[in-house]
Amino acid sequence: MSDCLFCAIASGDIPADVVHADDDMVAFRDINPQAPVHVLVIPRAHHATAAELGAADPALAGRLLEAAGRIAEAEGVAATGYRVVTNTGEGAGQSVHHVHFHVLGGRDLTWPPG
Ligand code: 5GP
Ligand code: ZN
Repeated sequence: MSDCLFCAIASGDIPADVVHADDDMVAFRDINPQAPVHVLVIPRAHHATAAELGAADPALAGRLLEAAGRIAEAEGVAATGYRVVTNTGEGAGQSVHHVHFHVLGGRDLTWPPG
């Protein structure tokens, strides 16, 4: 989709600190990390929200979540605990309307989130 920041990152038009890439997805470090480990996992295909992704391509949604777990392992936070978050809509803080799973870890994470 034109004018989409994360489509531009997925295509390589905008650089990012990529930790994993394959035919389906790209995972890269958040530019404004909220924890020692803060990686965003996105599909290459443009879907606005997790719900839209899940409805359109549930197998891809599953692969993204599997990748989130593998990234947590690779980043060394799987044993201590980590969080996979996807914000949906303005009221929840979604600022980029291309679905992304935040993988956060490396510090104590409070519950409930703010
Ligand atoms: P949201 O607020 O939509 O849940 O999450 C969007 C995330 O994208 C934010 O955590 C923000 O820091 C991150 N972000 C925004 N622009 C860029 C960028 O150009 N590069 C990277 N790596 N992350 C970005
Ligand atoms: Zn997009």
